[in-house]
Amino acid sequence: MNPEEFRQAGHELIDWIADHRSQIENLPVRAQVEPGEVRSKFSTTPPEKISKAGELLEQLQQNIVPGITQVQHPMHFGWFPSNASLSSVLGDIASSGLGTLGISWESCPALTEVEEVVCDWMRQLVGLSDAWEGCIQDTASTACLTALLVARERASTFSENRGGLQAEPKPLVVYTTEEAHSSVIKAALLSGFGRDNVRLVAMVPHDRSMSTAALSEMIQQDIENGCVPAAIVASVGSTGVTAFDPIESMAEIASVHGIWLHVDAAMAGSAMLLPECRQLWQGVESADSISWNPHKWMGTILDCSLLYLRNPEELIRVMSTNPSYLRSKVDNEVNQFRDWGIPLGRRFRALKLWYQLELEGVEAIQNRLRRDLENALWFKNIVDNTEHWEVVAPVKLQTVCIRHVPPMLSGETLEAHTMRWVSAINQSGVAFMSPAKLNGSWMVRVSIGVAATTRDHISALWETIQKEVAVSLEK
Ligand SMILES: *Cc1c(COP(=O)(O)O)cnc(C)c1O
Repeated sequence: MNPEEFRQAGHELIDWIADHRSQIENLPVRAQVEPGEVRSKFSTTPPEKISKAGELLEQLQQNIVPGITQVQHPMHFGWFPSNASLSSVLGDIASSGLGTLGISWESCPALTEVEEVVCDWMRQLVGLSDAWEGCIQDTASTACLTALLVARERASTFSENRGGLQAEPKPLVVYTTEEAHSSVIKAALLSGFGRDNVRLVAMVPHDRSMSTAALSEMIQQDIENGCVPAAIVASVGSTGVTAFDPIESMAEIASVHGIWLHVDAAMAGSAMLLPECRQLWQGVESADSISWNPHKWMGTILDCSLLYLRNPEELIRVMSTNPSYLRSKVDNEVNQFRDWGIPLGRRFRALKLWYQLELEGVEAIQNRLRRDLENALWFKNIVDNTEHWEVVAPVKLQTVCIRHVPPMLSGETLEAHTMRWVSAINQSGVAFMSPAKLNGSWMVRVSIGVAATTRDHISALWETIQKEVAVSLEK
């Protein structure tokens, strides 16, 4: 494809995307396809003839769109907001179109330096001090794995240069809670700690935050048993019930024992754009690493996870490779982001953040976040004030966890009722929510925060819920 052909096909594609986004409300939220249905629309062998770009647009419309759960749909209340602001999409397109290669500063100085700039802008926007330095990772999962690899190496005085973990005399231990995201446990396992050395610290029952008394006790016991406490992973806004671990007191415990403290604020980091929310991560300045995802509520198109470190030197020491073909004479003057994580090649992801901040504006983003917080409280109050309904966890941000508890149902019949009404709504395509287990019992998470969701949509959701609950009770 030459640039002129690209120009024409590109204009058509942008028009198509704009139409798709403006008509998204007419689509079902959840993909209405059976397993294998999308695949069956495609030839099992590679294409033999060349298509026109316009033909692909038709296929996008007919074969791909039906296979998409529309998370930009205003009636999407599932998982978490995965906003993909069109301003950031433009930055993403610019990034792809430029065709850059980020493997060293020299391979694209602009990629490195704009990433430094936007990471520092974002640092200021969430109120972190200038003691932090950041980089962009693909996801919070990778950021947590990266942090735990550094924690492992620090706790083992850089065992990677000897026999690795396999030669360590004492087991290294990681602490988190049952509320932590599944990616935290995965990161602990992948970084070699082993399941036997992952401690799930007891939680405060009311809000499922980590109990620091239990943490202290566990650490003490581990030390007495000849283990080395290596890392604590704190959840700032857990996925399940938006639990906030007490960072300040956890950091005190971590510093006494020289334990790495990683803060997973993947979802709630966006809230820190609002000064009034920052008490939720009070003490964060004393952590060793923080990650959060602009690619969730804030609305930067996936993938864009920020990882901040107080001392990047330790990270660089763990990750650094320096083959001769990548060395250059400016090595001591510049950042080599390949040494800040696992991949060598990186995309120019800073452009999508830059585009979003410049075109959307910080104030507009903040206003949208505040709107969502107000909508969540408004919805919580409605549920709270409706007979036989419960809000089953404190509403700290934009997620409201609810359960319908009619007097005649309990135990298994109540479980079945919950799953019946939420599944019926999800299957209908009218709205989408995520059921989740809390203390062994089903509840439904209503995660508010899609950019297109207004209060009217939440009213419509509540009406739909009332209707389906009544239908379920007749069954
Ligand atoms: C979404 C989420 C993650 C995982 O994020 P990815 O970027 O998809 O890896 C981790 N932790 C929390 C608290 C999350 O909400």
